[in-house]
Amino acid sequence: MRVTTTAEQLLEGFPIGLQGTTACQHCGTTLYEGDRVTVLASRPADTDRWAIHRPYCVACSPDTISQPTLGCTELLAQCRLGTRADLATQQTRLVVLEPELQDVSEPTNTATPATHR
Ligand SMILES: [Zn+2]
Repeated sequence: MRVTTTAEQLLEGFPIGLQGTTACQHCGTTLYEGDRVTVLASRPADTDRWAIHRPYCVACSPDTISQPTLGCTELLAQCRLGTRADLATQQTRLVVLEPELQDVSEPTNTATPATHR
């Protein structure tokens, strides 16, 4: 449960994509503020910097992380899209609201077993 709490706190307010709208990574449907989406976030094991990959629309949302990336912690979460204004650039960005964690992949998860160096 510790991981879940941390992940959801981490994702809340996290920026997605560029400005205004984004699109489903799978089918290309345009996604707007207020839409429910599923996002995949990842963090390489040797950093504390997270990146959010483009989101999935409801129809395309995976339930689990089917292709984990070796060396990365990955999170799959459902959320709503919100917007946050950046006064410095006069732009709005989409952000994650109310994330609900669906799946977590540890850095050691991969299609082939990890080996020690
Ligand atoms: Zn889609």
